[in-house]
Amino acid sequence: MHEMSIAESVMSIIDEEVAKNNGKRAVRVLLVIGKLSTIVPESLIFCINANKEGTVFQDAEFAIEEIPGKGYCKECDKEYEVGPHQFFCEVCENVLEVRGGTELLIKELEIE
Ligand SMILES: [Zn+2]
Repeated sequence: MHEMSIAESVMSIIDEEVAKNNGKRAVRVLLVIGKLSTIVPESLIFCINANKEGTVFQDAEFAIEEIPGKGYCKECDKEYEVGPHQFFCEVCENVLEVRGGTELLIKELEIE
């Protein structure tokens, strides 16, 4: 389950940010996950919940914003929304260039 290693890096970023801001705890965390990132949001939250006991984010509210995948076709000079297994242009079947949807980041972090 690769969400565990991702959860670990998310959790250490939260730890660092809270310490850096001289905060006591994280209140709210908004994560942005691209739909092409292969991360299952539910699994990620599950991993965090399983490991948050006694941390600065144990009572924090975790929210997830999913953003759609974006592909670009050079031939058609067109950008459109794509699913995780769509690699070719719908019109000309050219290989698409991925332009978005692979990201994972902490968009907002509320610290107390
Ligand atoms: Zn095309």
